[in-house]
Amino acid sequence: MYCKKCGAEVADNAVVCGNCGASLLRDSSSANNQGGAAYGQGGYSQNFPPPSYLVWAILTTIFCCLPFGIVSIVNAASVESRFRSGDVQGALRASANAKKWAIAAAISWAVILVIYFFFAVMVGVAGIAGFGGL
Ligand SMILES: [Zn+2]
Repeated sequence: MYCKKCGAEVADNAVVCGNCGASLLRDSSSANNQGGAAYGQGGYSQNFPPPSYLVWAILTTIFCCLPFGIVSIVNAASVESRFRSGDVQGALRASANAKKWAIAAAISWAVILVIYFFFAVMVGVAGIAGFGGL
């Protein structure tokens, strides 16, 4: 092949022209930079709605905390409808709210269980103590 810069004949596998010193590598910097960096901005894609936590909302509503659970269900149910209407930010907000209220419901459920447990233990202890005192 021939050097593009000075026209001197050089070996086919030469990297640098022996005559003028110009680089003979193919210019790969311009055409090679397409594709790759354009994907994956901002976490959620435009094709899938954010998680609705609807299962958590329903579980907490059934097992314990109706008020919190209902708030969670309302938010969870609106995630997909907001998303379908193009309100991605609203869907993300509803998703976050559904998660928050489901967690709140789960926590208050746990607190109630603990209080109930201690109450039962205290009643039991009191009963045993009363029985022993007879
Ligand atoms: Zn050359």
